[in-house]
Amino acid sequence: MPSTQPVPNRVPLQPLPRLTLPLGAVEPMGWLRNQLRIQADGLTGHLEDIWPSVGANSGWLGGDGESWERGPYYLDGLVPLAYLLQDEILIARAQRWIEWSLGSQRADGFFGPDANQDWWPRMVMFKALTQYQEATGDPRVIPFMERYCAYQAAHLREQPLQSWAAARGGENIYVIYWLYRRTGDPALLELSRLIESQTIDWTNLFTNWPFTRPLREYHDVLGFIDALQGLEPALVGRAVGAFQAAGNYHVHHVVNLAMALKQPALAYLLSGDASQRQASLLGIEMLLRYHGLANRMFSGDEHLSGQQPFQGTELCAVVETLFSLQTLLQVVPDNIALADWAEELAYNALPAAFSADMWSHQYDQQPNQVLVSRAHRVWYDNTDDSNLFGLEPHFGCCTANYHQGWPKFVSNLWLADTSGGLTAAAYAPCRLRQQVNGIPLEIIEETEYPFRESIRFTLACQQSVDASIKLRIPTWCTGARVRIGAEELQPAAGTYCELHREWRSGDVVELSLPMAVRANPRPRGAVAIQRGPLVYALAPVAEWRSLGGDQPYANHEVLPRSPWNYALALDPLAPTQAFSVEEHQVGYPPYDSANPPVVLHTRARRVPEWQVEQNSAGPLPESPVTGSEPLEEVGLIPYGAAKLRVTEFPRTR
Ligand SMILES: [Zn+2]
Repeated sequence: MPSTQPVPNRVPLQPLPRLTLPLGAVEPMGWLRNQLRIQADGLTGHLEDIWPSVGANSGWLGGDGESWERGPYYLDGLVPLAYLLQDEILIARAQRWIEWSLGSQRADGFFGPDANQDWWPRMVMFKALTQYQEATGDPRVIPFMERYCAYQAAHLREQPLQSWAAARGGENIYVIYWLYRRTGDPALLELSRLIESQTIDWTNLFTNWPFTRPLREYHDVLGFIDALQGLEPALVGRAVGAFQAAGNYHVHHVVNLAMALKQPALAYLLSGDASQRQASLLGIEMLLRYHGLANRMFSGDEHLSGQQPFQGTELCAVVETLFSLQTLLQVVPDNIALADWAEELAYNALPAAFSADMWSHQYDQQPNQVLVSRAHRVWYDNTDDSNLFGLEPHFGCCTANYHQGWPKFVSNLWLADTSGGLTAAAYAPCRLRQQVNGIPLEIIEETEYPFRESIRFTLACQQSVDASIKLRIPTWCTGARVRIGAEELQPAAGTYCELHREWRSGDVVELSLPMAVRANPRPRGAVAIQRGPLVYALAPVAEWRSLGGDQPYANHEVLPRSPWNYALALDPLAPTQAFSVEEHQVGYPPYDSANPPVVLHTRARRVPEWQVEQNSAGPLPESPVTGSEPLEEVGLIPYGAAKLRVTEFPRTR
């Protein structure tokens, strides 16, 4: 039988305040279901036929092809997508991979392709297997995992985690806890300690954060000596430490960091040392403070690259940060800012990286992305095709790994409270089915959020149920209102609004989350515009041009055919007054530059001296800019829909 209830932590693991629900408990509806359908009809549903890395010759299907991470990455997204859509064709596809993996296990517990003995891809396959087990209840999965964990325990000392596996041990610990919650075998906790001892010390790195500048600057010895001259003596030791740490490739690799954000908090669950949990939050703070971009993601055009809006972020880092946040939301009590951030990533940086039909994607996305072309850019070391839309621009890791982004977001819209009850952690149209205090409860969530401000929850249950339902009131939201019948509440921003009562079938809760336009401050006096969770961008007219190859996943460049170099005319202290909001029908696809669900109209002035430099929008002029160009009316659209765009703007008076 499939799991219907989440499984709480067992002692000695620290209790989790909230739990992710089993795959399938939350079903996508409305625009979000459409988005998953688009993903299935796009590359995800066809990848095996097109891309040899996950084709019939994959080592993870018994062939002599790719035998490392690509098969497991693909399955980690294919499994939840298939079961959320209840798509029989995709379920059958996923099953072939599952069957091969389960059947590949040797008598000693090891499994997977013989051609590659690395621990790392097996961590990813375990993540896929946990979801598969939740969706199907397949009785083979847990004994299979137990046998492999016993193999790990017997062999990790002689063959320790190395390279990527040593950076990503947290992924292994995550699945070991999942198993321990179900079996209670104390040997699993010993294994978890062993893996932690062989994993990069992320707690230390996040607590004593060294990288306050783009990583390329730490490889410039003359620049380093220069920089030391200007430093206060107290900071010299830290700077030297940063240069030493910069010599370790893995500690500033953007995808490693995205995965690592959860690792200290997972370590806390076993140690009880709250400073480890805090280290995860410090890591987030440091990444956003020193490498945060206008799109609310941090930079990493392979490695951390600072705050300039022409730097890129790899798509793998977006989906892995989302997964780390989904894990942290279970561990960190009442951290609304974490939930806000997860929603912002899912609604901005995630859709931005794909063509609207999800047949092609970018390796690197840029906040100010005014030219998509095969050309040299100031990436840390990514190649010239890294911002093309295509099948595998630069490198195929993202082609294999992006599939988990939307489906896992669906699974984490609602969380179970271990105190009994349910928490709405993110908002989107969906249907939740869950037993609360032994009584089956269904909640239909109707909304076009994040494109609209209102959300309506309708409850259905066979008998009345005494339960607490908590609604996240985002930190950006003042004036939120909750209405239940004649009763109205005005919960504060940055809280969970708890509704505890005897619920009856047909009860309706209406939530209104007013979205005032905000001007997020950026370096040099610039601004980025946000309304609710959505970041908005100016999208010049875009011409898509194929660089050859098979449609619809051929490499494409995207060329601007109208001006992009505008400064916004706004008072950053009262930005709302500068904008008028125009709503359009939420279309299919929802993130479509030709039919954006929301347009923000405002006034702007061209800045002629701001031009393309090194094939990206150049550094912004210091704000406020003055100029004699006339003020013009411009429209900003959701960042995720704008494939050419300016997101970080100079200001003008
Ligand atoms: Zn990647």
